[in-house]
Amino acid sequence: MLNILPPDIVFQEVPEEISLALTVTGCQIGCKGCHSPDIWNPHNGDSLTEIRLAELLSQYHALITCVVFFGGEWQPHKLCLLLSQCQAAGFKTCLYTGEEDVSDTIKAHLDYLKAGPWRSERGGLASRNSNQRFIDMASNKLLNHLFIKD
Ligand code: SF4
Repeated sequence: MLNILPPDIVFQEVPEEISLALTVTGCQIGCKGCHSPDIWNPHNGDSLTEIRLAELLSQYHALITCVVFFGGEWQPHKLCLLLSQCQAAGFKTCLYTGEEDVSDTIKAHLDYLKAGPWRSERGGLASRNSNQRFIDMASNKLLNHLFIKD
């Protein structure tokens, strides 16, 4: 079972996409300075069943082009089922993970992948010095430059 916090619509996490953001609770990576340690507890939030996801996709379908999962790679089978459901409904998919990489099985269900833990001294995707990588899966190209403003 994957639990999520209340969903949100986001504009900057996936370039040129309007995304439904689903934050999965239960991250165990434990980055120092984590922006939201409340999501470490897997019991926080509500269950993201396939029925609940279908409701969300129906509710937001006119607004969004993409679904971004923040976490969930620790339950790969369930995550792949949910990603497949998003793709079948016609949406692009993205995963933000604090891991350095994820399995090819998960990648097969992704259009975009953000990989890498939070390192405060390196900064996030908007930093030229970031350890994190944002990858277009179809081309395997790094898209970090799209996040850098200056
Ligand atoms: S991967 Fe993200 S949610 Fe998990 S500990 Fe690191 S910053 Fe926090």
